[in-house]
Amino acid sequence: MKTILVTGAAGYIASHTCKALAAAGYLPVAYDSMVNGHRSAVQWGPLVEADIRDRGALDQALRTYQPMAVMHFAAFAYVGESVTNPGKYYRNNVDGSLTLLEAARDAGIGQFVFSSTCATYGVPQVSPIPEDHAQSPVNPYGASKLMVERMLRDFDAAHGLRSISLRYFNAAGADVDGLIGECHEPETHLIPLALDAAAGTGSLTVFGDDYPTPDGTCVRDYIHVDDLARAHVLALGALESGRPTTAYNLGNGMGFSVREVIETVERVTGRKVPHTIGPARAGDPPALVGDASRVRRELGWNPQHTTLEAIVETAWRWHQRAR
Ligand code: UDP
Repeated sequence: MKTILVTGAAGYIASHTCKALAAAGYLPVAYDSMVNGHRSAVQWGPLVEADIRDRGALDQALRTYQPMAVMHFAAFAYVGESVTNPGKYYRNNVDGSLTLLEAARDAGIGQFVFSSTCATYGVPQVSPIPEDHAQSPVNPYGASKLMVERMLRDFDAAHGLRSISLRYFNAAGADVDGLIGECHEPETHLIPLALDAAAGTGSLTVFGDDYPTPDGTCVRDYIHVDDLARAHVLALGALESGRPTTAYNLGNGMGFSVREVIETVERVTGRKVPHTIGPARAGDPPALVGDASRVRRELGWNPQHTTLEAIVETAWRWHQRAR
């Protein structure tokens, strides 16, 4: 069986990807520090509990499992926290990724899929954003991911380590079979917080209502986590067939404002979402919508959950089960 080392595999997007990898016949070996991960999300292969900055543990995992590729998700991913504590982000996301890349290089790994982000673009000049748009991140989280994309290109040029960086827009929703879902501690993401507010177990503050957008609130491109997971399997297959290093956007190509998300959550749950308006969050661009036509064309990616309703419905089912 083809083995894949998956860092951060006990987290949200990576655990859905492990499920998709297993369904496609791969064995995902979960490598996770368990600082933010959930043991219950590791269901499709063994778990190595270690940090990506621990070179000894990485070497041992690579020797033990002899993976044919690495999928790298492990990262801190709170935009707001990255602004107030940038050192944490550069130390883990950049230094940790470099340690992983060097370990992968020395183990002779030739294929690498990287969890990147639309936050590498910064404030876009055009919408939807194509992959060749300038990358000028406006927060340390985006900057840390952009540095890894750059390292990956350099490692390919120097060592032949081919990679595909997948720039996610806003991951949302939960496994359609209800086995796993979104579970951050603390939760900072809009859809789970709006569901908490609808359920009466939390409160929601809208971060700013005077952005230069149609209703004044931030616009984002929400993409179902199962669709993201499938794109990773396609990216791996493309690398196996020799595709050169590249990066792809993963989004639906449709933007929804914070107010539209709240209205959708109210429709899906049949409940009101009480909320207040607060100041804008540092590091938040007004609108981020992705042009994912290249990955559709080149890898045959075809998102299945194309409406916000469908995405929120899966999140609500998971929310009722898990929270
Ligand atoms: N947002 C909000 N209130 C919250 C959390 C998020 O208004 O409590 C907004 C945020 O400003 C952004 C959108 O919702 O425009 C999505 O934010 P989220 O944190 O879910 O994802 P991000 O875009 O940061 O990856």
